[in-house]
Amino acid sequence: MIKEIARARKILDDRPQMTQPALDLVIATLEKIRETSDHLPRASNTVLARLQIASPVASSRWKAGASLIERRLPPASNKTKLLNAIRERVRICTKCAHLACSRTQTVFGVGNPDADLMFIGEAPGVDEDKQGEPFVGRAGQLLTKILKAMNFAREDVYIANILKCRPDTPPGTFGNRVPTPMEMQTCRPYLVEQIEIIQPKALVALGAVAVEGLLGMRGTMRELRGRWQTYNAIPLMITYHPAYLLRNQAPSEKRKVWEDMLQVLERLERPITQRQRNYFL
Ligand code: URA
Repeated sequence: MIKEIARARKILDDRPQMTQPALDLVIATLEKIRETSDHLPRASNTVLARLQIASPVASSRWKAGASLIERRLPPASNKTKLLNAIRERVRICTKCAHLACSRTQTVFGVGNPDADLMFIGEAPGVDEDKQGEPFVGRAGQLLTKILKAMNFAREDVYIANILKCRPDTPPGTFGNRVPTPMEMQTCRPYLVEQIEIIQPKALVALGAVAVEGLLGMRGTMRELRGRWQTYNAIPLMITYHPAYLLRNQAPSEKRKVWEDMLQVLERLERPITQRQRNYFL
């Protein structure tokens, strides 16, 4: 860490015109501190003002970090800009070299940057890797139906994954691979930043991998689902991944997910009709 900061300082000293790579290094270092240390890094107003002068783009990124640190909400109009800056970092990310080689493209996230509700899945599958958008395959179509039943369009909420790259699989094989703990740990800071910028009123973790990736908590879905947890003071509901519902078509399982979603609607103080209450009974 110290070495990286020294490297950044040297870049700035040697080549003042190259502030951007130096600032990227500083931001990456701050991300590491945030992920690994008990104490969050702090920045004074003087430092923020200097960053603003040095590089408006980097300083907006840094401010995204600062909002994490100081728990300040970025103004709504700024959220798209802040998310786009992270999207660009994700697009060229090579932290997991094997995934950077195997992916068609990264899958950042989709939806309303100012959403009250944010869904978190596992990782892109083959369809998402092709299209560059999360939850567009069969599981995604089911998620869209669940959203519709909740009276939401996809554009109303925000949808993202723990991993931004499709986990690679041996050539000629079918199906998806579960992300490794190392891949999740490496990619997690991007999701952390997305959540901090969007600041939803509630989060939904879809499946055990999303729970492990975000909360570092392992357990069976039987134990985990239907309960509120908190992530950074944001209420988080755990429910089954839609892919589970595709494998287990029993109405009783659909009802469980629906009951979890009713809890979410109640938490968001959304109106719920009697018809909605009775789904899958
Ligand atoms: N499953 C996920 O967890 N995420 C996607 O984007 C698609 C399928």
